[in-house]
Amino acid sequence: MKTTYQVDERGYYGDFGGAYIPEMLYPNVEELRTRYLEIMKEESFQKEFKQLLKDYVGRPTPLYFAEGFSKKYNTKIYLKREDLCHTGAHKVNNTIGQILMAKKLGKTRVIAETGAGQHGVATATVCALMGIECVVYMGEIDIARQAPNVARMKMLGATVVPAKSGSRTLKDATNEAIRDWINNPVNTHYIIGSVVGPHPYPDMVARFQSVISEEVKIQLKEKEGRENPDYVVACVGGGSNAAGLFYHYLDNEDVGIIAVEAAGEGVLSGKSAATSALGKEGIIHGSKTLLMQTEDGQITEPYSISAGLDYPGVGPMHANLFRTGRGEFISVTDKDAMDAGLVLSKLEGIIPAIETAHALAIFETRKFKEDDVVVINLSGRGDKDLNTYIEHFNL
Ligand SMILES: *Cc1c(COP(=O)(O)O)cnc(C)c1O
Repeated sequence: MKTTYQVDERGYYGDFGGAYIPEMLYPNVEELRTRYLEIMKEESFQKEFKQLLKDYVGRPTPLYFAEGFSKKYNTKIYLKREDLCHTGAHKVNNTIGQILMAKKLGKTRVIAETGAGQHGVATATVCALMGIECVVYMGEIDIARQAPNVARMKMLGATVVPAKSGSRTLKDATNEAIRDWINNPVNTHYIIGSVVGPHPYPDMVARFQSVISEEVKIQLKEKEGRENPDYVVACVGGGSNAAGLFYHYLDNEDVGIIAVEAAGEGVLSGKSAATSALGKEGIIHGSKTLLMQTEDGQITEPYSISAGLDYPGVGPMHANLFRTGRGEFISVTDKDAMDAGLVLSKLEGIIPAIETAHALAIFETRKFKEDDVVVINLSGRGDKDLNTYIEHFNL
């Protein structure tokens, strides 16, 4: 049998994945698991999904040949412009898909968890669009740190509920969301924001984001006469933008896969989010994957200058890409990411999100051949990060 890096029918990517959930959550997850594929295949679903991606999100996003950036690094670099999506990043591809899924399942209420607030905003956006009640759980500390995104969610009509327990950050918000879902199994859909969580979430989110590589294949064929680049490169927080870019290339070993994680102040500094380098097998958010933990299995607080990469785990697809060696994993420090963000701004007139800047930074150390075609997912725009850029560079 041919090796596949896609999910199997039990919800596993190799050793990783599955659904490790409390019994009281079983009916909710089981309803989704038994119905998501059939719903996604429905013609009416596909029609509405494609229409909204086109008219509301602004897809297809361009595949842009970055001439100045290519010249600097002496290879052919294309940027997949997810920064041009409505709301400024790839996250909305998933929330559009999931809000349509919620409607098909007859749900009238949506909940979500958010760390930096980006996924909260993307969820509040599609709930406003569809006129569906939206409750977003967010750690009390994150609420204080991310005031503009809290304001956006409120403008969009969402209720933002502070998580006041534990470290008062993302994992506590996730616990609150799960508690809510257990209490509201019939009318509520839980929109998870990355390729994490119990099966079928990682696969469902990857499928919604796979529009990215579906478009790259067509666009690269037009520009280079071939569908397959030599490499695809993306930053990994939970792993959804990476899963979207890798998706249609996973089982094509002619295409190299490069995943870039946040090393924070250095992989061994104790302030990092380099999950593959530091992670051990464990269970987080309902799935078996690699995560940063102490000797006795307590989840370690991650750190990265970019809020979107500040996650202690990685989705099971990526854990499997790491363990099997199918993916090459590189970690990039805060400083190197910030520098790369400045380089792209100056050479291409594109200010990237700091998450994305991690992926751009690899060219300083990872060399490619002159005629290699490298596609990078430009996962988001840097407007939200302006204050961090200002502080870092004394602008
Ligand atoms: C949220 C976010 C990420 C990280 O999330 P993934 O699920 O790993 O894609 C990366 N880039 C941007 C711009 C983001 O907003």
